[in-house]
Amino acid sequence: MTSLKLLDMYRSIIALPSISSTESSWDQSNEQVIRLLADWFSQLGFAVEVTELPDLPGKFNLLATKGEGDGGLLLAGHTDTVPFDPGRWTKDPFKLTEEGNRLYGLGTIDMKGFFAFIVEALKDLDLGKLTKPIRILATADEETTMAGARAIASAMSIKPDYAVIGEPTGLVPVMMHKGHMSEAIRITGKSGHSSDPANGINALEIMHQVMGRLLDLQRQLKENYGNHHFKVPQPTLNLGHINGGDSPNRICACCELHFDMRPIPGVGPDELLGLLHHALEPIREQYPKTLELTHLHEPIPAYGTDPEGELVQAAEAMSGHKAEAVNYCTEAPFINQLGCQTIVLGPGHIAQAHQPDEYLDLSFVKPTVDVLQQLVSRFCIEKK
Ligand SMILES: [Zn+2]
Repeated sequence: MTSLKLLDMYRSIIALPSISSTESSWDQSNEQVIRLLADWFSQLGFAVEVTELPDLPGKFNLLATKGEGDGGLLLAGHTDTVPFDPGRWTKDPFKLTEEGNRLYGLGTIDMKGFFAFIVEALKDLDLGKLTKPIRILATADEETTMAGARAIASAMSIKPDYAVIGEPTGLVPVMMHKGHMSEAIRITGKSGHSSDPANGINALEIMHQVMGRLLDLQRQLKENYGNHHFKVPQPTLNLGHINGGDSPNRICACCELHFDMRPIPGVGPDELLGLLHHALEPIREQYPKTLELTHLHEPIPAYGTDPEGELVQAAEAMSGHKAEAVNYCTEAPFINQLGCQTIVLGPGHIAQAHQPDEYLDLSFVKPTVDVLQQLVSRFCIEKK
């Protein structure tokens, strides 16, 4: 048994900064949070395993297990937070502030606070009666590369039957979301005096053709693919940023375009990349060695779980909400690769995530603890 209390746990986890950022001046280790979680779950009798991520010193995953064998329930979340906007927070992001039925602090809903809820829910359950294991996964770097979740997916060392990721969904079960790909196309031509086009190879003119082909692909995606669960059914393609050239009287030697694509379940990053390569092929043939395509980040696949599956059905009944598809990304596609039914379900609203004065509305406390206790009882504890 443990004497841990929800508010005290919240206070101590919010006080430990664990920002992840592609900006190295912001990026921090999550080790302190992982050590705190190791202590909490050890107190509950869990076997705790802490793993440093390959090639990412100072970034750790934690896996805590109670019960034997495969299957059972995985409760998962990320330990990192986004950076904060110092000028726009009216509260200290690392000091839990209780005010007006809200708990303010960085990570209160996205999503370090979820681990405090897990402990709060588990401490009153009789974990001596487990028939299936319960596992807790705490990952690193969800907000940047999803390296922690990717590592778990590639290790494949656990095989839960069900997984719940506690991102802030307003306690509405989420069963599907799109993925995300960020791509760059760089055209390298040859500069020259603008008075004679034969003096060079104009990268802007080639890019103009590239953009035409990308817009054709955008149209094809809309015509040929769709998933009615999403407000925007098709995989989207958005031209987001372009940079090239320096002077009207020089032939432009270099131009770079950044765009994103959002895969849907069944139309993954590999398929979209195939279509993209196919669309660009004529340009590669016409202008050999001028076009280079690179990922701005590793693709995040879409994710979907069976809406008729046991987990979605149970979560709908327990939460009182119908499962939804959403348009933000989580670690669900990677957790789903473990072969489990996977949902996203947690306290707080996504609209308050990544915002100054992030807060948890305290009205979520009781329903969240209730739902977590019901999930564990349903999937891990013997029925009388
Ligand atoms: Zn999150």
